[in-house]
Formats: sequence, structure tokens, C-alpha cells
Amino acid sequence: MPRPIEALVHADALAHNLGRARARAPDSKVWAVVKADAYGHGIERVFGALRGADGFALLDLAEAQRLRALDWRGPILLLEGVFEPRDLELCSRLNLWHVVHQEQQIDWLASHKTHQPHRVFLKMNSGMNRLGFTPAAFRSAWARLNALPQVDEISLMTHFSDADGPRGIAHQVAAFEAATRDLPGERSSSNSAAVLRHMGPGAGLASDWVRSGIMSYGSAPDFPEHDIAHWGLQPAMTLRSRLIGLQQLQRGDTVGYGSRYLAEVPTRIGIVACGYADGYPRLAGSGTPILVDGVRCGTVGRVSMDMLAVDLAPVPGARLGSEVTLWGRSPHFAQDGTVLAIDEVAQSAGTIGYELMCALAPRVPVRVA
Ligand SMILES: *Cc1c(COP(=O)(O)O)cnc(C)c1O
Repeated sequence: MPRPIEALVHADALAHNLGRARARAPDSKVWAVVKADAYGHGIERVFGALRGADGFALLDLAEAQRLRALDWRGPILLLEGVFEPRDLELCSRLNLWHVVHQEQQIDWLASHKTHQPHRVFLKMNSGMNRLGFTPAAFRSAWARLNALPQVDEISLMTHFSDADGPRGIAHQVAAFEAATRDLPGERSSSNSAAVLRHMGPGAGLASDWVRSGIMSYGSAPDFPEHDIAHWGLQPAMTLRSRLIGLQQLQRGDTVGYGSRYLAEVPTRIGIVACGYADGYPRLAGSGTPILVDGVRCGTVGRVSMDMLAVDLAPVPGARLGSEVTLWGRSPHFAQDGTVLAIDEVAQSAGTIGYELMCALAPRVPVRVA
């Protein structure tokens, strides 16, 4: 029998979450962002559920090829554009749209031989200072692109640094609008946090194309201010395992490496077949939420490579083989809708849901359910 750990990818949750993006941005086309192998879920596994999107956005040319191999004929956008001149050949061959964020990419396009002019997304650095042309340099980049026979339509794009937080997006929206006011072309600005917090009824932010990433996978970009229940999202990934050991601790006993947990009272604990080599965060300290037979419990002691421990006090009926949910849907989800959001586990480890889902380890078998 294999080790009892597995991950499930929930097609119905992905489709539901995509529907939430559409509901917040009813006048926009939606890019399903599937970079990093669909945030760790697997492009092939999410494809069926997300193919209702208007296009797929990603970074890696090999991932774009995988989408074409799935027979996706619609738009694909390379969010960082091409990395070297010969990437443009693949863009021509597979009809990939690509971001242009620096001058060198325009040079490469200018010397690219193609029968098929390319659709490009010209990116502005409106304040994030990662990729893109400054507002001052944007127009001349646009004019250069517009003069190239290799370029067909030019769309305009920017990315927000604070859509999830108190600073907000107004300063970036103002910079983007001022520098693009009289330019033609479709606009794309919103990531998940902007879709959820700055679009929807009365919010007024327009974006011809929104870029829905983390929300599609059922994590709240602004947790803990808001959780997935607030945004009506469902976890798209469940990581589950089983109890493979039980220990009865006496007062003064300790658990795991470094004896980081000390029992103050007699305590029954379970040992779960899941550790940091499965992608569970080692920095998640005692008290990290975890479900045993669907009942909320807390971890105890340090996470080791292949195992972690859980305090079974809330679930006296737990026994060897009891199902443990590290994050995602409880075994009783169909009856009561109980979930453990990946965001809660991430917060206990000082990180974000994005990092945990992307870090699911290759040794964990994954099924679409
Ligand atoms: C990853 C990414 C997104 C999606 O961001 P989420 O926060 O996951 O919605 C959108 N736009 C760009 C340019 C990205 O790199």
C-alpha cells in the first residue's frame, strides 16, 4: 500500500471560482493565470475546469506548448514576454501573445522574420518597479512597436503592487490612465485582489482583460482581512493523509525534534503521514489548524520530513487510519461544506496560500476529483 498522503484537485471548485471572477468583472474578458504549473495544481488537471476562460496566461514557453498540446486554440499570453530572440519563433508558430516590457524585446521583434504579425501587451511600470516602461517612456515604446510590420494589435497593461492592501491602486490607476489616455487598444490591469476589492458594482475600475490567478484556486489574496468564505471562493486543492501512529503523553512529555512541545496535561496525539518533504511548511508551529475526521484540531511540535503530530483532544474517536485534512475539503464536505482554507495554514507558517500550493511536492500523488 502506498503512503496514505494524496492531493485532490477539485474541478467543480475551479469552475466555481472562475465564475466568481466573471461575476465581479462582468464586462471583462478573463485570463486564467496558470503560471507555475497552475499554481502547483497541474495545467493538465485544471484545464478542463478553466477552459471557460477567455485565455490562459503564464510565463513559461514549455507550459504554453502543453496548453496547445491540450488542443487549446484560444489566446495564450506570456506574462514576462520572451526571454531570447528565438522564443519569438515559437510565438509565431503557436500563436502566443506576449508581453513587451523592455526595449530589448522590441529590438528582437524588429529583427524577427514572421508571416504572422504578433499580438503584444505593452507593459507599463505604473509604480510597482518590477517590469515595464515608465509612464514617460511608454509612448515612445508604443510608437516603436506600432511601426513594426511584425506587430499586429497592441494592448496596454500594468500590474498593481497593493491591490490587496491599504495603499490601494488609485495612484497606479492614475499613472496608467494619464499615460495611455489617447492610445488605442485593450487594457489589462487587475489581478485577483483588484478583481475582488476594486471591481464589481460601483467600484468603477475598468479592465478589458482581468488576470485571475489565486482566486481561481480558492485562496483569498487579502487574508486575513477577508477569507475565502467572504469572497465566496472554494478551495481547489485538498491535501489529505491519515493517522499512522498514536501516542498517549503524560504530563511533562515532549513531542518531536527539539522537544518543542511539552504536554502540560495528559494528552493523546496522532502522528500524520505528512511532512515538509510533501510540501507542508516546516515553519508551521504548534497550533496550526488541521482537520482530523473533519474536526478542527491543532498541530503539536515541529514538522519533520515525513510526519507531523496533532493534538487529538477535540476528536476522542480518532483512531489509526483516521482521515487528516492538511488543507482543503473535509471528508464531510458533501454533507456540511466544511473546509480548511490553505490561507490559515499559510498564516501559521508566516507565508501565503500561493507559496504553499506552488510548493506541493512531486512525491505527493495528485488526482482530479
Ligand atoms: C501572477 C500574475 C497575476 C495573477 O495574480 P494573482 O494575485 O494570483 O491573481 C496577474 N498578473 C501578472 C502580471 C502576474 O504575474
